[in-house]
Amino acid sequence: MSELAIRKEIISTCLKMEELGINQGTSGNVSHRFKDGILITPSGVSYDLLKPKDIVFVPFSDKNSYKGEYPPSSELDFHFDILKTKPDIECVLHNHSIYATAMAICRMDIPAHHYMVGVAGGKKIPCASYATFGTPELSQNIIKALDGYSACLLANHGVVTVGANLKKALWIAIEVENLAKQYAMAKQIGEPVILSDKEMDKILEKFKSYGLKK
Ligand code: 13P
Ligand code: ZN
Repeated sequence: MSELAIRKEIISTCLKMEELGINQGTSGNVSHRFKDGILITPSGVSYDLLKPKDIVFVPFSDKNSYKGEYPPSSELDFHFDILKTKPDIECVLHNHSIYATAMAICRMDIPAHHYMVGVAGGKKIPCASYATFGTPELSQNIIKALDGYSACLLANHGVVTVGANLKKALWIAIEVENLAKQYAMAKQIGEPVILSDKEMDKILEKFKSYGLKK
């Protein structure tokens, strides 16, 4: 993909998150690998005002030198660290979707109450330990939680998803929000039944050939 196409897709992903109600205003951020660095949303700029030229480039060689009119997202650390250390990942998406964040506020993992929990690669959506937003400590906690998963919750904060492309990372973010909503609803009605490890093993096997391939 050309640099301009990536810049445009970052913006359309932000707008899509807003339209879907999983993010709004300036909350959340999006990044995409590009050449020897990353393209990332600027800090504190409303999605509806973003222009392709506002997306910031940060080279892997120096986290502190960026190319752009605005500074990069305050969450540069985790976007940068994930994309630098995990070559199979092309993009990182962060949001504050309501139900998933509510579970993160309770510092809960999303359990295997539904087979779609397997969409993120495991038997739960794990919740990363708490750290202040925009800190290297938060980045370390996220990298730890993402081990083997393509999504995690951020304690008292929100959600991170990763993927081979933005379509996939967004798909997983939408699913994470659905899963959290289902779980919260089920909790209102009774005590949710969690699928067994054995059942989840079967489901994870099926997931190897399920869903977006590209
Ligand atoms: P930025 O506007 O700096 O990307 O911050 C939004 C956010 O969600 C911080 O966690
Ligand atoms: Zn955030």
